[in-house]
Amino acid sequence: MNAYMQRVLDEVKARNPHEKLFLQTVEEVFDSLVPIVEKHSDQYEKYAVLERMCEPDRQIQFRVTWVDDAGKPHVNRGFRVQFNSAIGPYKGGLRFASDVTLDTMKFLGFEQTFKNSLTSLPIGGGKGGSDFSPIGKSDMEVMRFCQAFMTELWRHIGPDVDVPAGDIGVGGREIGFLYGQYKRIKAVWENGVLTGKGFSYGGSLIRPEATGYGAVYYLQEVLKHEGESIEGKRIAISGYGNVGWGIMKKAAQLGAKVTYFAGPDGYIHDPDGVVGEKLDFILEMRAKDPMHCKPYADKYGVEFVPGTKCWGVKDVDIYMPAATQNDVNLDWAKKIAESGVKYYIEVANMPTTNEALTFLRGQKHIIVAPSKAVNAGGVATSAFEMSQNSMRYNWTAEEVDEKLHHVMTNIYNASVEAAEKAGLGYDLVAGGNIAGFLRVADAMMAQGLV
Ligand code: GLU
Repeated sequence: MNAYMQRVLDEVKARNPHEKLFLQTVEEVFDSLVPIVEKHSDQYEKYAVLERMCEPDRQIQFRVTWVDDAGKPHVNRGFRVQFNSAIGPYKGGLRFASDVTLDTMKFLGFEQTFKNSLTSLPIGGGKGGSDFSPIGKSDMEVMRFCQAFMTELWRHIGPDVDVPAGDIGVGGREIGFLYGQYKRIKAVWENGVLTGKGFSYGGSLIRPEATGYGAVYYLQEVLKHEGESIEGKRIAISGYGNVGWGIMKKAAQLGAKVTYFAGPDGYIHDPDGVVGEKLDFILEMRAKDPMHCKPYADKYGVEFVPGTKCWGVKDVDIYMPAATQNDVNLDWAKKIAESGVKYYIEVANMPTTNEALTFLRGQKHIIVAPSKAVNAGGVATSAFEMSQNSMRYNWTAEEVDEKLHHVMTNIYNASVEAAEKAGLGYDLVAGGNIAGFLRVADAMMAQGLV
């Protein structure tokens, strides 16, 4: 790292002493950018590109007061971090989970900026959410919370300003309640203000599955590069929310299968794969109780291993962590390396600690693909939803799926090309970061010091 990069990194660390997740992603990205930034350091320094990329345009924090079914008041913290708008309106999800802090929002907003750029669509980076968890709350409680949350948020967002969507804890139900309140306050029909909506009021077909579908399309390209096909492949994943479910569904469509999946209570091993009606059962199980996957084992008579993750199992071809950040630490990474499995395809945002990622990238027999690229199909399909809302027109499921496939192939190709051009060879992690960076950096320099 040259003097410019080191200075910026030191400044970012000094300015964010408590923000561990945010610093983790900044360090990971900087590591990839070394050959590119060093080559054009004067230009980037002149326009303070790295400094500005690491400091959000603005971050909004607000109190959310709501009342539960028993009449008891609750106070939560709401956030929206508007990170970077160089290439389009802020775009990124809302996460409702009890461990959400400003740090979570900043790490996700920073990642989102690079990811959105990779899609080649006109969307900037932002993220928001709350330390409120919908788990165990009634529909009416979730509705009151969402209404209170939007009563603060609405003044900061808009179809050309900032377009939130879902993330962990925010699905179709929450987006519906949030949209209803936005419409009530503004008295306008601006359904381009949120994505992940229900189809009846402007949602896009395929959006719920898009992140998982996109991840499998990206995986197909990786396999192609190795002269392999996806057919017959067995996959181990963590998480079985919309993202994991989308992976299961697309894998099944393409003749592969998810044979292991892990949840908060342990993991399932289903050698026949999650296919057919089992896919519907996953949805049912999740709706009843998102914290336990054991009911799947009870229903289908397969193995359930409580209290642990499935990383390290040998009878699969591909690992796809699709749950949450830092799911795979160095100990798990060592088990993954020992298993002999060749493909480690990140899906959740930052699912690997930096230590574990460096370790895995150093293993000659493993191909590592980064989440920023692999999971970008979700937000890309959100951008398609925005297009459909502006056009007052709906594409068919086939049209959306085809566009998604196209975007994912492009992301893969752009990543391969960026790493090769930077002299790094076949490096999907560095290539993704570089390709995402270049577009945002160009736009920031063109628009001057703002
Ligand atoms: N939360 C998703 C992500 O991490 C989707 C964001 C969106 O659709 O705006 O990319």
